[in-house]
Amino acid sequence: MSDAPSLNDTDELLVLLDDEPESADERAARPTAAWEILIVDDDADVHRATEMALRDLSIEGRALRLIHAHSRQEAIALVERHEDLAVILLDVVMESDDAGIQLVQDVRQRLHREAVRIILRTGQPGYAPELDTIRHYDINDYRTKSELTRVRLFTSLMVAVRVYRQMRAHEQTRRGLEMVVRASTELSKLHGMHLFAQGVVSQLCALLGIQPEGLICAQAGLQGRDDPARVIAAAGRYGELIQRPLSDLGLPRVQQVLERCLNERRSHFEEGLALYFSTSDGRGLAAFVDHPDALRALDRHLVEVFCSSMSAGFENVLLYGQLVDQAYVDPLLHIPNLNQMLQTLSAPPVSSEPMTLAVLDIDGFAAINDMLGHGFGDAVLRAVSGRLRERLGASSALARLGADVFGVLGPAREVDADRLLALFDGAFTVQGQSVRLSSTMGLVRLNEHAERGADLLKDAHLALKRAKLSRRGTACYFSQEMGQDVRSRMLLLDSLRAAAGSTQLFTVYQPKVELASGRVLGLEALLRWRQPDGTLVPPDRFIPLAEQAGLMMVLGNFVTHRACTQLRELHEAGHTQLTMAINVSHAQLREPDFVPLLAHTLTETGVRRDAIELEITESMAADDLSLIEQRLEDIRALGLTVAIDDFGTGFSSLSVLRHLKADRLKIDRSFIAEIEHDSRIARMVIQLGHLLGMRVIAEGVETASQRDLLLSLGCDEGQGWLFARPLQDAALLAWLAQGTTGASG
Ligand code: C2E
Ligand code: MG
Ligand code: MG
Repeated sequence: MSDAPSLNDTDELLVLLDDEPESADERAARPTAAWEILIVDDDADVHRATEMALRDLSIEGRALRLIHAHSRQEAIALVERHEDLAVILLDVVMESDDAGIQLVQDVRQRLHREAVRIILRTGQPGYAPELDTIRHYDINDYRTKSELTRVRLFTSLMVAVRVYRQMRAHEQTRRGLEMVVRASTELSKLHGMHLFAQGVVSQLCALLGIQPEGLICAQAGLQGRDDPARVIAAAGRYGELIQRPLSDLGLPRVQQVLERCLNERRSHFEEGLALYFSTSDGRGLAAFVDHPDALRALDRHLVEVFCSSMSAGFENVLLYGQLVDQAYVDPLLHIPNLNQMLQTLSAPPVSSEPMTLAVLDIDGFAAINDMLGHGFGDAVLRAVSGRLRERLGASSALARLGADVFGVLGPAREVDADRLLALFDGAFTVQGQSVRLSSTMGLVRLNEHAERGADLLKDAHLALKRAKLSRRGTACYFSQEMGQDVRSRMLLLDSLRAAAGSTQLFTVYQPKVELASGRVLGLEALLRWRQPDGTLVPPDRFIPLAEQAGLMMVLGNFVTHRACTQLRELHEAGHTQLTMAINVSHAQLREPDFVPLLAHTLTETGVRRDAIELEITESMAADDLSLIEQRLEDIRALGLTVAIDDFGTGFSSLSVLRHLKADRLKIDRSFIAEIEHDSRIARMVIQLGHLLGMRVIAEGVETASQRDLLLSLGCDEGQGWLFARPLQDAALLAWLAQGTTGASG
C-alpha cells in the first residue's frame, strides 16, 4: 500500500506537497516502529469508522497503530503509558461537554507532553473551542466529524505526524545538547587522560543511546612518528584492547577507519562512527563507535558540537597533565618525586598485602659530586634509578625523595632489607666506568604502624639515621621504640628551648690538678640543666639535642660568658694561677661567627686570654679537617690554647692529630676506668701526646691507685672525683680555699 491514498481534495494535497521533502539525515534519524495514534471518543461507532478509514494506511513508510480510549480518564492512563504517541484524535464532547478540552489540558500541562499532536473532532460546530484555546494548547486541527472524510482525515493525520516527527527530532537535539553540556562539565573533573577518554566513551554512548560498548579511543604517537597510536580507553567487548597499539588490534576495519580519522584529522560517519578530537599539540584522538545506526538518533551537527567540546576538554587534560608532571615528577630522573610519594602514602592502601616503605641513601654521594663533578653525580643517580626500576617488581613504586635519597614503596616480600641491599652488589656502569656503590636504608613496615603520609617517611628516615649510626651500607627497620625515643626527645627539646636563658641552666666547674704535686692548675666549665621539678638532665643527653635543634650557639655563648666571668673573678680573688677549660661542640665551631663572638666575649669579660682553653673532640676533625684547622688557628691567634677531649674514642688517624696542633691531650675516662686491668692505651696516648709536644691529662680519675698508675706512666695532669666533683660557685670557692686536692697519696 502506498503512502498516499487516492486524493481528491486538492487543498490538502497542496499542503502535503508544500512540505519540505525529507532530507537524508532526517530519513536516517527516523525510527522504524509504527506511528501510535490514540483515538478518544465515547461513541463506539466513531472508533470503528476511524479504524475502517485508516486501515492499511501508512505514513512515511511506517504503519499506523491505533489505540482506543472511551473516556478522559482512560485516555490519560494511555497517554502516560505510551511515550511515543504521535497523534490524539479527540472527541470534544464526551462524559461532559468539555471533557475533550480538559484532556487537552491534562496532556499539555500536567503530563507535559508537548510533541504529541492533537486533532479535535466534534459532532456539532457549536462545540468548537475558542481560537485562544487552540493556540494555547497547541491543538493541531479542529474538524467536525462530518467534515472528516477518509481523505481529509488521512491528510490531517499526515500533517500532524510530520509535525510530530520534527518536534521529536528537535526535542532530541535539545536533549542531546544538554547532555553534551553536562558531559563537558562532568568530564572536566576527570584529569587523567585515560579517565577522561573513558568518560568520553561513556558520555558518547549515552548521547547515542547505546550500551557503552564497542568504542575505542586511540591516541596518535606521544613520542613522535615512530610511536604508534594506542588504544587509551575502551568499553564493552573492546575493553581488553587498552594500551595496545592500533596496529595490533587484529581489527582491520576499525584500524582503517581510526587511522583515516587521525590522518585526515576529521570525523567519519560512514562505517560505524569515527570521531576526531583535535588537540593543540598535534596528537589528535579518535573515538570509534561500532554501531551502524548510532547516528540515527542524533544529528550530525550535534556530534560535531560534542567533538569540539571534548577537544577543549582534552586540551585541559593535557595541560593538567603537564602541571602534574611538573609537580609530581623528578625532572632529572623522570620518576615520581617526594610530592608523589607523599600522596601515595596518604592514600588508602590499594592491596591488603603487607607493605613496606624503604628510604635509600647513596653512601658518599656528596664526595662523588665534589670530586667527580655534578654531571657524573647525575649519571650515578640515573644508574641507580635505572637499576632500581629494572629490578623492582611492577608492584613497587619508586620515587626520588631528595638529592641522593630514593623511596620505594611495595609489598613487604619485595621491599625487604636484604633484597634491597643486594641490588647494590654488582658494580654500576656510569659514563662508561664501572663504579661500586652502596646504600644505607631505613625501612618501615606499614601494617605495624598507624601512621600515614609524611609521618611514615619520618619514621623511615629515623630508621635510616639509625642505620647510618651503625655503619654505612646497612639497613634498619623502624621500631616503635625509635618513635617513642623521638617523641620524648621532642618533648625534652621543647623544655630545653624554654630553659635557654633561664636559671635552669647554670655552670659548674671541675678542678684539674698536676698529678705529681697535687697543685690545682685550672677548672673545666661544665653545663648543667636542672628542670623546675628538680631533675638534673645529663649534658650527654641535652647537648646533642641542642646541637640538632640549632640551640648550641646560644648555650655555648652562655657557658663561655659564665666561665670567663668566673675565671676573671677568681683571678681577681687571688687564684691567679688558674686556667679555665671550656667545651666547644662541633655545631659551635662550624658557625662562621664563632670566632668573632668568642673574641667579643673575651673582650667584654676582660679575662686573661692565655688562661682560657677550648676543648674540642677529635671526631670533629674527621668531618671537615680544613675548616677545623682554620678555626683552631684563629682561636690560637686570639691567644687561647686548645685541648683535644675524649681522646681515643673518635677513631681519628694520627695524622689528624698532627694537623690539629693542640696544646693538651685528654685521655678519655673509659681508658682510665680500665687502667688497672689494661694500661696499654693510656700508656700509648701519654707517649703519643708527649711525642707531639702536648701535655697529657687523664679524665675520670676516681681512685688513688689510678692516679699512681698514671703518674708512673708519665701522665702530667688529672681530673676526676678523686680530686673534686664538678662544683658550683660557692662550693668551688670553699674547695679552692681549703686547698684539698687528693693529689697526695
Ligand atoms: P667532658 O668534657 O669529657 O666532661 C667530663 C665529664 O666527665 C663530665 O661529665 C664530668 O662530670 C665527668 N666526670 C668528671 N670526673 C669524673 C669521674 O671521676 N668519674 C666519672 N664517671 N665521671 C667524671 P658531664 O658534666 O656529665 O659532661 C658530659 C659531657 O658533656 C662532657 O664531657 C662534654 O662533652 C659535654 N659538656 C658538658 N658541658 C658542656 C658545655 O658547656 N659545652 C659543651 N659543648 N659540651 C659540654
Ligand atoms: Mg671536656
Ligand atoms: Mg672528656
